[in-house]
Amino acid sequence: MAEQRMQGQPMIIMGEDAQRVKDKDAQEHNISAARAVADAVRSTLGPKGMDKMLVDSMGDVTITNDGVTILQEMDIDNPTAEMIVEVAETQEDEAGDGTTTAVAIAGELLKNAEDLLEQDIHPTAVIKGYNLASEKAREEVDNIAVDVDPDDEGLIRSVAETSMTGKGAELDKELLSDILYRALKNVAVEAEDGSTVVDVANINIETQTGRAVGESELLNGAAIDKDPVLDSMPVEVEDANTLLLNEAIEVEEAEADTNVSIDSPDQLQKFLDQEEKQLRQKVDQIEEAGADVVFCQKGIDDMAQHYLAKEGILAVRRVKKSDIQFLHNVLGGSIVSDLDSVTADDLGHGDVSRDEEDELFYVEGLSEESHGVTILLRGSTDHVVEELERGLTDALDVAAQTLTDGRVLPGGGAIEVEVADRLRTFADSVSGREQLAVEAFADSIELIPRVLAENAGLDPIDILVDLRTAHESGEERTGLNVLSGELEDTFEAGVVEPAHAKEQALTSATEAANLVLKIDDIISAGDLSTDKGEEGGAGGPGGMGGGMGGGMGGMM
Ligand code: ADP
Ligand code: MG
Repeated sequence: MAEQRMQGQPMIIMGEDAQRVKDKDAQEHNISAARAVADAVRSTLGPKGMDKMLVDSMGDVTITNDGVTILQEMDIDNPTAEMIVEVAETQEDEAGDGTTTAVAIAGELLKNAEDLLEQDIHPTAVIKGYNLASEKAREEVDNIAVDVDPDDEGLIRSVAETSMTGKGAELDKELLSDILYRALKNVAVEAEDGSTVVDVANINIETQTGRAVGESELLNGAAIDKDPVLDSMPVEVEDANTLLLNEAIEVEEAEADTNVSIDSPDQLQKFLDQEEKQLRQKVDQIEEAGADVVFCQKGIDDMAQHYLAKEGILAVRRVKKSDIQFLHNVLGGSIVSDLDSVTADDLGHGDVSRDEEDELFYVEGLSEESHGVTILLRGSTDHVVEELERGLTDALDVAAQTLTDGRVLPGGGAIEVEVADRLRTFADSVSGREQLAVEAFADSIELIPRVLAENAGLDPIDILVDLRTAHESGEERTGLNVLSGELEDTFEAGVVEPAHAKEQALTSATEAANLVLKIDDIISAGDLSTDKGEEGGAGGPGGMGGGMGGGMGGMM
C-alpha cells in the first residue's frame, strides 16, 4: 500500500486495476466500514454485555466477551475496518483492557463526524477539534483520577473485579481477585525511587479443565502440564538440580542430502552402535553436569529415555517454549542450547513434585534469583476456562498497572459523563468550527454510559439525562452501577478503573477516527463492492465492502 501526499491529504492507493471512490463518497464508505466494526462489539460492553460465539473456518468455536478477541477472530479484510481492529490491538498492548471502550468510542467519533461533514464542515476542522478535545479529555481524566496506595488491597482488588465482571468470573470474583492480589504482591518490587514495579511476566496462568472455578489456586513457582517420558522415572525430586534444554536429545540428523548406504549386517550394526554412542554421550553430559531433572523443549529419543531413567533422572519432553522461559524465572540457571558445553553452572534449583490427579508437575524454585508464581485456573470445560483466562489476563494487567501507575477512576460511565461536562465548558473557549467538533467529541464519549445502560436493559436516554444532571450539580463520581441498577457514587461502590487504560482508549480512538477522516480518495485494485465476501451482503461504497463475510459466518 503506497502513500502519497496530495494537497496535504494522504491518498491511499490500493492497487492498479483501479476502482476509485472520492471525497464525500470515500468518507462515507470508510466511516460506515469502521462503524460496522464498532457496532459489532458494542453489545459486549460492561458486566451485562452479551457474549459472541465465533466460529472460524475450521469450525473451532470461541465464546467471548472480549473486544480484541472478537475483532481478531472476525478475520476482517476490509482495509478501513482493519484500522479499527488496530485500535483494539494497540489498546490491548498498551493497557491490557478497555478494548471495547476504545473501539466503541472510535465508531461514535466517526458517526458524529459524519454529521459535521454533512453540515459542510471540512474534515481538517473536525480532526483539529477532535485532537484538542482528546488532549483536554486526558488532562481532565488526570485531574479526576484518585491516587492509590499500593497497599490498599480493597481498592486494587476492586479494580481487578471491575475488569473481570462480565467475563465468566462473577460467581468466584472474590476468590479470583484474592488470588490476583496475592500474585501481584508476590512479584511486586520496590524500585530505587520508591515506586512499585510489577513484572507480569513473572505471573503465569495455567488452565485446567474438569474442576470448579472455585478450586482455582495460587502456586509458588510453575505448573507444567506434562508427563515424565518414562513411568520408571522419579516424579518427586526435592532440592533438585534442574536442566532447561532447548536442544533435542536425539541423534543429530546427517546432512539432508547424504544417504547412508549399508551393504552388510556388519555395517548396519556399526551404524546403530554409533547412534547409541551419540545418545549415551548426551546423557553422560547431562549426568556429569549433575542434573536430576531435565525439562526439554524438544524431543527425547527412546534410547536416551532409557539411559536417563537408569541414571534416576526425571525427564520431560516437548515443554512449551513459554513454559521453559517461565521455568527459567522460577529455577534460575540458564537455558542450554548445546549439551557439549553444559556445566553445573547452567543448572537451576528447585523442588519438583507431582499432582497425579491433574497430571501436572509443580516446580518450586529454591535459588536466590527465583521469581514467579502460577495462577492455576480451573473450570468445568475448555470454553469456560478460556474465557475466564481472557478475563483474568485483563484484570491482571489493569491491577498491575494500578499498582505501578497509581491512579484510578470511578467507572460505570461516571468518568465519561464528567469529562464530557468539562469538555462542553472547554468548547466555549474554542473558536470557529472546531468548537462543534469538541462538542461532538463530548457527545461521543457519553456513548459509554448509554451502552452500559442499554446492555443492562435500562433506558439509555433517561440514564444519560439523569447522569448529566448529577454531574452538572457537582457529583463527579456518579455513574451507573449496573449490578444494582442504580445511579450512585461508583467509586464508593467499587466500580473502579485504571486511569492509564482510559487515557489510552481516548488516545487510540481519536487517532483511528482521525486517520479515517483524513482519507478523501480510495483507489482499489478490486471491486470495492464485492471485495471477497460473496455472502457479505452490504457492499458498495457505504457498505462494509463485504470484507467481513466469511469470518462472521458464525456470529450471533
Ligand atoms: P472493555 O473491553 O472496554 O474493557 P468491558 O466489557 O470490560 O469493556 O466493560 C468495561 C466497562 O464496564 C467500563 O466502562 C466499566 O466502568 C464498566 N463496568 C464494569 N463494572 C460495572 C458495573 N458494576 N456497573 C457499571 N459499569 C461497570
Ligand atoms: Mg474490560
